[in-house]
Amino acid sequence: MRVAVLGGGLQGCCVALALAARGIGVTLFDRNDRLLSRAAIANEGKVHLGYMYANDLSHATARMMMQGALAFAPFFQRHLGLAGDSMTVSRPAAYVVHRDSQRSPEEVSRYLSTVHSLIRDASDGRSDAYFSRDLSCEPRMWTAAERQAEFDPEVALAAFDTPEVAIDPVALAAAVRERIQADRRIEVRLGHEVLSVEDGDRLEVTLDTANGTVREPFDHVANALWDGRIALNQTRGLRPNRPWLHRLKYGVSFRLPADAGPPPSATFVSGPFGEVVSYDDGLTYLTWYPVCLQGISDDVTPPDWPTYPPEPLRSQLVKGTLEAMAQFTLALRKLDAGELQDVTVKGGVIVAWGNTDIYDPSSELHRRFEIGVTSTGRFHSVDPGKLTMAPYFAEVCAGRIVEDARH
Ligand SMILES: Cc1cc2nc3c(=O)[nH]c(=O)nc-3n(C[C@H](O)[C@H](O)[C@H](O)COP(=O)(O)OP(=O)(O)OC[C@H]3O[C@@H](n4cnc5c(N)ncnc54)[C@H](O)[C@@H]3O)c2cc1C
Repeated sequence: MRVAVLGGGLQGCCVALALAARGIGVTLFDRNDRLLSRAAIANEGKVHLGYMYANDLSHATARMMMQGALAFAPFFQRHLGLAGDSMTVSRPAAYVVHRDSQRSPEEVSRYLSTVHSLIRDASDGRSDAYFSRDLSCEPRMWTAAERQAEFDPEVALAAFDTPEVAIDPVALAAAVRERIQADRRIEVRLGHEVLSVEDGDRLEVTLDTANGTVREPFDHVANALWDGRIALNQTRGLRPNRPWLHRLKYGVSFRLPADAGPPPSATFVSGPFGEVVSYDDGLTYLTWYPVCLQGISDDVTPPDWPTYPPEPLRSQLVKGTLEAMAQFTLALRKLDAGELQDVTVKGGVIVAWGNTDIYDPSSELHRRFEIGVTSTGRFHSVDPGKLTMAPYFAEVCAGRIVEDARH
């Protein structure tokens, strides 16, 4: 049996690894000249436990995210030999209720508390499940003095400690590329644009290559194209019966000057805000929605937005993000955009169901649980929804293919 995995982002790479571990030969296609070159390396790497989705009062998104989060480190331990406690993770995030939040501090507090109990049940005391973090402590509300020491208290109305961390997606991508290259069951074909998948004796994948158009048969196909997923599904007549949005979001990372104190990792909720992700070695990542959201499209295929923005947009994103967040994050006030080291600005597409932006409190974008693996015969469309979910859905997809092969 041979399986085509379409898309070499984190989702496609994880599906390839999960299949190879089950003894199945895989051909992994990507149109770029490198694996993991798009959204997979342009995100802040937060491994969501569900705390962010306070606008989904059904808690379905939180339940989904924690399922992915608890499978994340164990997947890379299993397939890459990376122990959860050896992966570089950020300082744990405080959840900070912004003055313009769509949920009050009391509502956020109640939500965090409920999510915490769900995580405790879901993790069932497995200390290795989430980067060896202790998941037993209830989110703690900061005292007014603690809040005042880090933020403008008129903007940050409340803050709560959580155990949620981020991984460095660039470091993870390097380890995944190396592992895939060493796996003789996985053949990687870069510079291959997937055009369509058609039924035949087997599934016929049509690809645009440097040598022209080629067709290749496979026993199963997994579509992990992320922002190319809906368009490819459509070539098979699979059209969603609901609206979706492709959003282009950027983020800014840099190293702090040696004498600067690190900001706390913080996620501002609930609405169009952003995050500070702070690492012990001074690596800092910022994203602020009103500045960093640079494109929105309801087309089947979104524009080919650049991962690395050109000037003057790049400089505007650095200055605009820092200025916006420095207004209420005290450690950022002392920084000068012109003097930061190793500044990188990267962005990618976020694909989600919905037709209004997150400024609308009832937007479907505030939920992210209608995601996962949809199989029609031997064709499997994998929507990770978030980076967090990629390892979990990879195992689901590989399991389904193996099960089908047994019958
Ligand atoms: C700014 C930003 C911050 C984010 N922060 C987080 C976060 O903190 N936590 C979290 O869980 N998620 C986060 N996300 C979401 C996360 O990045 C994505 O959900 C995830 O990376 C998508 O899966 P992927 O890695 O497989 O996608 P991609 O890396 O985009 O992989 C898709 C691959 O398919 C290839 N491709 C597409 N079309 C074709 C075609 N027709 N033919 C051949 N190849 C094709 C592309 O070249 C690409 O390599 C964020 C996203 C952004 C943009």
